[in-house]
Amino acid sequence: MKSINNFLHGAKFDKSAAKLNQLPADEGIEVAFAGRSNAGKSSALNTITGQNKLARISKTPGRTQLINLFTLDSERRLVDLPGYGYAKVPERVKQHWQQLLDSYLNQRVSLRGLILLMDVRHPLKEFDQIMLEWAIHRDMPVHILLTKADKLKNGPARNTLLTVQKELAEYQNISLQLFSSHKKQGLAEAHRKLEQWFFEAPKKSPLSNGGLTEEGQDSGN
Ligand code: GDP
Repeated sequence: MKSINNFLHGAKFDKSAAKLNQLPADEGIEVAFAGRSNAGKSSALNTITGQNKLARISKTPGRTQLINLFTLDSERRLVDLPGYGYAKVPERVKQHWQQLLDSYLNQRVSLRGLILLMDVRHPLKEFDQIMLEWAIHRDMPVHILLTKADKLKNGPARNTLLTVQKELAEYQNISLQLFSSHKKQGLAEAHRKLEQWFFEAPKKSPLSNGGLTEEGQDSGN
């Protein structure tokens, strides 16, 4: 088998979707990336796939509000969710993003995990909290990248990691790490998480959203 590194390097832009019904069939495994705008999502996608220009497509005017899909193989995809929080967009457009994000997160069965990106200097903002609440509610694994770690000295960066870790300690399905695209810091750790999500069976099936429980088993919900 290819190494996870080589596997991720093979990512190819597939398409952008403005509506759920424009997404590829809801089969196989997807890992989605989400974050406030400017959190470093495009840079992280490029770093993680070892492709300088991969996520540029997500930044082209008109595509920032869309779900952008990158194919890894016939069953596995990376999903770039619309960045949240551009100050200058009209309310109507914001509502469209919100609805698209909401319906994606609530309905997508192939979603295996969420990579949530937060600038290490501004963690756990309102958008991040909303995403985490949703993930906890749906029992969806989240891996947080505290991005731009190079902007802080080691001590303060580590302190932020510990503070956020403490804040989220009660949730077993949430993990986090420091990450820097500029320094390629934390790349191996991020790759390990993606390898786990893409290639290992989940420890337990999500109980929410109907029907991912094993055959014949009643989730009780
Ligand atoms: P996005 O809006 O979340 O896709 O964020 P971008 O990836 O476009 O990054 C936003 C800004 O943060 C850009 O100016 C990047 O150069 C900068 N940035 C992204 N990652 C890093 C990083 O690891 N270190 C530093 N110092 N800056 C970064």
